[in-house]
Amino acid sequence: MKEILEHANEENYAVPAPVTQTELNARTAIKCAEEMNSPIILLIPLIFDYDVDLFGRYLKSLAEKATVPVAVNHDHGSDFESAVSCIRAGVSSIMTDRSQLPYEENVAQVKELVKVAHAVGVSVEAELGHVGMANNYSEDRDAALTEPELAKKFIDETGIDCLAVAIGTAHGAYNKGQEPYLDFDRLVEIKKATNNFPLVLHGGSGTSDEGLAKVAKLGINKVNIGCDLFTSAISAIKNADTEGNGAYALTNLIEKGYGDRVKHFIRVLDSENRAWKTEKQYVKPKKIELTKNTVL
Ligand SMILES: [Zn+2]
Repeated sequence: MKEILEHANEENYAVPAPVTQTELNARTAIKCAEEMNSPIILLIPLIFDYDVDLFGRYLKSLAEKATVPVAVNHDHGSDFESAVSCIRAGVSSIMTDRSQLPYEENVAQVKELVKVAHAVGVSVEAELGHVGMANNYSEDRDAALTEPELAKKFIDETGIDCLAVAIGTAHGAYNKGQEPYLDFDRLVEIKKATNNFPLVLHGGSGTSDEGLAKVAKLGINKVNIGCDLFTSAISAIKNADTEGNGAYALTNLIEKGYGDRVKHFIRVLDSENRAWKTEKQYVKPKKIELTKNTVL
């Protein structure tokens, strides 16, 4: 993921990061990315009932076969053991979300996992400030927006590869008629204070296309999207004629609804035609030089 985000940062665009609940979602997202020649980051948040060991390995093998750069990210990891399980299952990055803890505790826990993850070539995302829930938007919105100077300190102290920032969006679906208010000035300040560090936006669903296109130009390099993709898949099913044998179209309809929205976000975030040829990352174990004084 580090490589994907550094490229996005250099070329000033954002990569869509769709939540994948099933292998069908994952294959659809990769297919869309290949058709539009875009990098893509698959999210596996443990709010769903995954067999992580199986799913992680499955996504890894899909990612390796893809013709565009694909990262597999364990999203919103909340404990050390789950993160290590996901690393063992083959994810290419983990998010260690300790944003609800006090600053010092957030730093300590993230730093610990950075050490483990980096040792095996896995990237780490963490969050500072806190992105709340959209159904509680009025109270959550301004509760914990990211402070630019503290963001710089956090990056230096933890050694992370990208930072999720709170600039006004929230997770999930907003209440009817509500839309997130994005703090563009804050984003610009964070990007400046962190010396152009790769930044992530959570809660991409429900945000206007203009807003998303603008944050992608102002320094966001990855946008997490879940709710909008599943809503689109559900609409595709609702609008289809599924009488009788029409029911067999179920998976095709999910693919169509989910995939159309993935493609939409690739366009909005200006990620189309940004893919490049990838070299698979492999961390080679360090060889011990044997001399007459070597102690083993
Ligand atoms: Zn999130």
